[in-house]
Amino acid sequence: MKSYEHLYIDGHWVKPVLGGTFPTIDPSNETLLAQVAAATAADIDLAVKAARKAFDEGPWPQTTGAQRAVVLRRIAAGIRERLDTLAALEVQDNGKPFPEAQWDIGDTAGCFDFYADLAEGLDTRQEQTVPLADERFSCIARKEPMGVAGAIIPWNFPMLMAAWKVAPALAAGCCMVLKPSELTPLTALELANIAHEAGLPAGVLNVVTGLGPDAGAPLSEHPGIDKLAFTGSVPTGAKIMQAAARDIKNISLELGGKSPFIIFDDSDIEAAVEWIMFGIFWNQGEVCSATSRVLVQRGLYEPLLKRLVEETRTLSIGHGMKEGVLLGPLVNSTQYDKILQAVARGQEEGATLLYGGTRPADCNIGYFLTPAIFADVPVNSWIWNEEIFGPVVCVRPFDDEAEALKSANDSRFGLAAAVMSKDLVRAERVARRLRAGIVWVNCSQPTFTEAPWGGYKQSGIGRELGEWGLNNYLETKQITRYDSDQPWGWYIK
Ligand code: ADP
Repeated sequence: MKSYEHLYIDGHWVKPVLGGTFPTIDPSNETLLAQVAAATAADIDLAVKAARKAFDEGPWPQTTGAQRAVVLRRIAAGIRERLDTLAALEVQDNGKPFPEAQWDIGDTAGCFDFYADLAEGLDTRQEQTVPLADERFSCIARKEPMGVAGAIIPWNFPMLMAAWKVAPALAAGCCMVLKPSELTPLTALELANIAHEAGLPAGVLNVVTGLGPDAGAPLSEHPGIDKLAFTGSVPTGAKIMQAAARDIKNISLELGGKSPFIIFDDSDIEAAVEWIMFGIFWNQGEVCSATSRVLVQRGLYEPLLKRLVEETRTLSIGHGMKEGVLLGPLVNSTQYDKILQAVARGQEEGATLLYGGTRPADCNIGYFLTPAIFADVPVNSWIWNEEIFGPVVCVRPFDDEAEALKSANDSRFGLAAAVMSKDLVRAERVARRLRAGIVWVNCSQPTFTEAPWGGYKQSGIGRELGEWGLNNYLETKQITRYDSDQPWGWYIK
């Protein structure tokens, strides 16, 4: 077993100050995968101080975007060189099927390349002239790195979610402390190795593994942090926002969702079934943007449910490394129990369980679950309104566009939404009226590094990815100069 008992601080692998570890478990067989270094407040303090020193005294924030791009591209290359190894590690730690993990790791490398390009672009776009009405002055607006960033990330796309924060932060010239989820910490430690080999200066990226309250909380409270970026649950997001309030830290939050998928009855039934399944069963449904609330126009409702059940039955469930598997185990026992409870609750609430929600017959150990389909889900039920974060889809019929829109928007969340119709005018009209940060038309879930990502309402604050992701880590400064040779003449005439 490889050792993961060190933290990466100031360019060195160090034992936690208190020497503790925590276990990370393989969810496919419930066995110990590794003991991992458990950071506490003292380690967080060291990591933040290292990042602070690297930012205040080190070369990184002063480098050109082109210089940072060289390192970012080396990180991307380092990830690609180890793509299958990293993907297999992600399967062991998270449970997801290997082809999905390969996709994630490829995307992770792509994210570093993308922000390398944007870093280069900053060299020409960093300063812009601001025309002033008062010609005695000249003004430029200038983008500068925000400072020291703290990134707290979840367990569903471990390395990719790290990249969504690390790549733009480094591209901007920030220094940072990254805390992965305690459920899936291993690829973040590998990322530290790769960044080290890529020649990232000491202290620019620090990786600290640890539990939420022991390591995440001190990071979000640390006065040495300028910017906090978080992806995870709404309750933890609220705690982080509270912690950030004390020093008015800049925050970006990507939180939960209960995303609707409106399917009009002119849709192709096979395409609808495929996208519903991709929208909620991909990554075991452990996806913040999963389209978990499906609204189907009445004319298509019964035939679509029939095909959905038929196709869902054929999904191969098993160990993520097994050929052909499309659904791996859930990430841990807590999540497993939560999903089983949600399935029971849905039945108590009067929804019709058409399929799934049980342990598959041939999987005695591991957190395996058959994907669940609920129909006729009451609109006021818990399962219709709350995020389940597992392979559980809730379906309801609707009659007309206005009703579908009202129902879709009737949520405290607003991360994503999807609409399907052959009538593109209608689909676009609905897309514009859906209150969500991401709207898919005739598909669900495809995600692109170039495009903005984030939620309305309680699904978060700010946008990641694309140039929006880079702006998360940049401050804007104006430099205004008095050019006139005339005295100002206010006090001294
Ligand atoms: P989940 O409950 O599904 O594990 P969380 O939102 O709690 O999701 O976890 C996402 C990330 O937030 C993880 O890295 C976790 O360690 C971290 N975290 C949990 N609690 C806190 C906290 N109080 N302060 C800061 N980070 C936390």
